[in-house]
Amino acid sequence: MTCGDLNMEERIIPFLQNQLDDDELEAFITHIEHCPQCYEELQISFSLFYGLKMLDEEEPRPVHLQRELERMIEGAKERIRRRRRLKRLTGFVVWAIIAVLAAAACFFLFGRSL
Ligand SMILES: [Zn+2]
Repeated sequence: MTCGDLNMEERIIPFLQNQLDDDELEAFITHIEHCPQCYEELQISFSLFYGLKMLDEEEPRPVHLQRELERMIEGAKERIRRRRRLKRLTGFVVWAIIAVLAAAACFFLFGRSL
C-alpha cells in the first residue's frame, strides 16, 4: 500500500524490527499519527508480529496489544529525540574546541609581539 509519498508496506516491517534510520523513522511515525488507514495497517502487522514473537515464549502472558504498540511508538520517538540532542551537543563541543584552538593560535601569533 502506498500512501502519500511513503510506501508503507516497505516501512512497517522494518519499523517493527527496529531497522529504520532516524529520518525514515520520524517520517513513518509522523505519517501514522495522522493517517488512520496506515495506523490500522500497522496495528494489524503489529498483532501478527507480536503473536509470532509470543509463540517463542516459554510462558506466553496476556498482553494489551494497543498499549504495547503505543509504547513502541513512544520509545521510537524518544530514541530520535535523544540522538538528535546528542548530535547537537557533539556539534557544539567540536565548535568550542575549534574556538579555543583559534584563540590559542591568535595568542601565540600576535600575543608575543605585544
Ligand atoms: Zn497513510
